[in-house]
Amino acid sequence: MDSFDVAIIGAGPGGYVGAFRAAQLGLKVALIEKRPTLGGTCLNLGCIPTKALLHLSGHYAWARHHAADSGIKLAGIELDLAALMKKKDAVVQKLVGGVAQLAKARKITVITGHATLTGRSVGKPMKNVTVRIRRDGRVSVTSRAGKATLPDLGEWNRYGELRLLGRVGEVANVGGLKVSPAEVERVLRELPGVTDAWVTVLRDKRGNDCLAAAVETKRARAEIEKKLLETLPAWKLPKIWLLAPTLPRTDRGKLHTTELIARLNVTVP
Ligand SMILES: Cc1cc2nc3c(=O)[nH]c(=O)nc-3n(C[C@H](O)[C@H](O)[C@H](O)COP(=O)(O)OP(=O)(O)OC[C@H]3O[C@@H](n4cnc5c(N)ncnc54)[C@H](O)[C@@H]3O)c2cc1C
Repeated sequence: MDSFDVAIIGAGPGGYVGAFRAAQLGLKVALIEKRPTLGGTCLNLGCIPTKALLHLSGHYAWARHHAADSGIKLAGIELDLAALMKKKDAVVQKLVGGVAQLAKARKITVITGHATLTGRSVGKPMKNVTVRIRRDGRVSVTSRAGKATLPDLGEWNRYGELRLLGRVGEVANVGGLKVSPAEVERVLRELPGVTDAWVTVLRDKRGNDCLAAAVETKRARAEIEKKLLETLPAWKLPKIWLLAPTLPRTDRGKLHTTELIARLNVTVP
């Protein structure tokens, strides 16, 4: 069985760029992707195909509605949708193929399949890499390549694994103690009966930080709080709550954070 210095799950822009950089730093890298092609959502379904379609339909609209304004007479303009989609597919294929070529050139082993994390080795630092949690909670990494302090906050769990708690600056100071909204949000999301959750930091009327949680659930606040207390200390519990069976979402299906902040702010104590 092959072994690697680093295995990256998911070959989207996050994964393949990380894999390229790790390979560039001299590590033996595996890039695991469940789709048949690399590039993730962006190249296969998101940014690239949508922009290709916008670009092509822009040509069509111009030819049909604006060419004559510029003194260009075009006749018999028709849309061949099948050909247009084929062109879009060709653009996608070219780019995903390009990512595959770049991975090959960097000697990255691409594995097609669904990766599952098992065992307790995940999250432990690699050999020759020292990870330290600084007094301010930031993660600092020292390796042959040098030393870097990350913009992430971390903690060690009881298995000696590193858990990332969120980005610096996204931490509430609750009565002198630091709590990361990301940590509370993760625990909320894992509760039975919760379909989604979002936690942020708001200021109460006295200017103190407090956590505010929007939770997509049919359960009552008291039930949710009781469940949270099984995992978190009481001081980490959000002070401001919005609970609803469905929360507002953006066109892309993500929680509409601007609207959630507006609704949460109404109940700031
Ligand atoms: C319609 C649409 C249009 C968009 N347009 C833009 C745009 O114009 N500009 C822009 O900046 N962003 C755009 N985005 C957002 C962009 O696509 C994402 O921000 C980007 O793809 C996120 O990259 P990622 O690597 O984090 O995740 P992804 O690109 O989603 O990649 C994750 C990869 O991991 C794989 N994977 C997941 N789990 C496993 C597993 N267990 N085992 C193996 N593989 C796994 C998935 O198959 C996937 O390929 C758009 C998104 C959509 C949906």
